[in-house]
Amino acid sequence: MNYNTDVLVIGSGIAGLYSAIKISEFASVVLVTKKEKSESNTNYAQGGIASVLDPGDSFENHIKDTLIAGAGLCNRNTVEILVKEGPSKIRELIDIGTGFTEKNGKLDLAREGGHSFNRIVHAKDLTGKEVERALIERASKTSSITIIENALAIDLITEHNVKDLRHLPISSRHCWGAYVLRNDTESVEKIIAKATVLATGGIGQVYLHTTNPAIATGDGFAMAYRAGALMGNMEFIQFHPTSFFDPKPGNKSTHSFLISEAVRGFGGILRNLSGEAFMSNYDARKELAPRDIVARAIDTELKRRGEDYVLLDVTHKPAAETIDHFPNIYKNCLEKGIDITKEMIPVVPAAHYICGGVLVDEHSRTSLTGLYAVGEVSMTGVHGANRLASNSLLEALVFAQRAADSIKAELNSFPVCNEPIPDWDDTGTLSADEKILISHGFRELRQLMSDYVGIVRSDLRLEFASRRIQLLYNEIEEFYKKTKVFDSLIELRNLVTAGYLVVKSALLRKESRGLHYTLDHPTSDETREPMDTIIQNTYQKS
Ligand SMILES: Cc1cc2nc3c(=O)[nH]c(=O)nc-3n(C[C@H](O)[C@H](O)[C@H](O)COP(=O)(O)OP(=O)(O)OC[C@H]3O[C@@H](n4cnc5c(N)ncnc54)[C@H](O)[C@@H]3O)c2cc1C
Repeated sequence: MNYNTDVLVIGSGIAGLYSAIKISEFASVVLVTKKEKSESNTNYAQGGIASVLDPGDSFENHIKDTLIAGAGLCNRNTVEILVKEGPSKIRELIDIGTGFTEKNGKLDLAREGGHSFNRIVHAKDLTGKEVERALIERASKTSSITIIENALAIDLITEHNVKDLRHLPISSRHCWGAYVLRNDTESVEKIIAKATVLATGGIGQVYLHTTNPAIATGDGFAMAYRAGALMGNMEFIQFHPTSFFDPKPGNKSTHSFLISEAVRGFGGILRNLSGEAFMSNYDARKELAPRDIVARAIDTELKRRGEDYVLLDVTHKPAAETIDHFPNIYKNCLEKGIDITKEMIPVVPAAHYICGGVLVDEHSRTSLTGLYAVGEVSMTGVHGANRLASNSLLEALVFAQRAADSIKAELNSFPVCNEPIPDWDDTGTLSADEKILISHGFRELRQLMSDYVGIVRSDLRLEFASRRIQLLYNEIEEFYKKTKVFDSLIELRNLVTAGYLVVKSALLRKESRGLHYTLDHPTSDETREPMDTIIQNTYQKS
């Protein structure tokens, strides 16, 4: 069945659900999501949402902390919007039914690295799950929102899908919805919409180790790029220093759980496989150095010794205290056969968050008319070269609201397509009987990205990666063109494209800044170029 709606929202994390709820106040919404509706990065967020809610705190403090973390690349205008419009979004989440943790009748505001004040609203250490629960409950009860689960958007519909409009230049393109693969019927449907909101989340699955769940295959980045949208700053990938290392990761997903930074704060010691504590070789603050320094130290130690993981040791701490402080980590590790009170925890740095993405303006508009991007898939400029902890859930809320406001003002002025939009055409394609190409493709891509485009980069590694990924891209495109689409083929195609964009972006930046560290251009903070010469990397499919 094909659909016609005012607005199509793709994704059911915080960005997609909140957009849908706000848009449903004035228009009809179809929301598609590729798995069950709760399966998202949002659902795994632990720490919380940053916002200025204490009278002793100030907008200026939060703005300053965000700009410092962003290493000179933040857009000051969007940072101000984020910070100033944040508190009302938190209050709205509470009105919707989100149960945040309170202390003495007031919101319990926690502090995280890089914040100069206690401003993290949280629901114990399961904030994302609680927010996702409340938003799903509200969206499911809203009659003007139709939620379709197990519906994977394949491609955005623009002039390039319409025979007589194909010749028009990319710069004048509109988005009129998307083609979507329904897993229950195995058919591709056409959802035509006046406006489309891309809220497809991140890219973590492009690396061997990631804290992101299996859905994070970079679909939104790839779809937007193929449609001709402007992209930006995709070299800035945040790696969490310590995620659990499982020696048997699957082919389809490399998701592993976080070993919180609080474990190092508690006295956890990082050791190599010979049992040597190594952090003092890298930074005087040892295990308490900032996140990116610890991640880089572990990466260097692994590459130097040719090992797959390091060990985090809390066996010297009293067992009862460890279990009391970290009940979830204790339980999760025990399920994997490790009693952390007696054995060291195998850990690796894992891809966690991407700061760049589909370039948007302060109203969440992309460079294609009718296409909006919100949440992790977007590049609003608030994170610059490094994200301040707990700013991403806030960004999703603030800029989803802005997308809704802009759609409300513009919905009826978006040009409609006067030519018939064709149904999905798969004539001449065959069912895949060579699925080994897909599992091999995932493995090869992840190994390549982890070895050459990880935490520490160099021109040589990036050039090698660029040649290999181009080859992989061509092979997958060739296979895609002659095969009936299925979910893992679509995801691999997207992941290769997203990886290609990360490499392209990394090659453009001839300096080390924030999360992008390259051995060939190790610019330090002191010698950094002044603001007006800083490059924002933007690019578009030609
Ligand atoms: C372990 C972990 C802890 C974190 N902790 C915090 C924290 O404490 N504070 C904070 O601010 N941030 C945190 N983050 C980051 C934050 O959770 C994410 O940036 C944020 O949730 C992204 O929200 P989103 O709505 O953009 O994407 P997501 O929540 O990832 O949602 C994306 C949705 O799009 C769907 N989708 C994707 N592709 C398609 C497609 N082709 N067709 C249809 N549907 C599709 C997915 O199924 C999913 O429903 C954490 C992230 C992780 C992984």
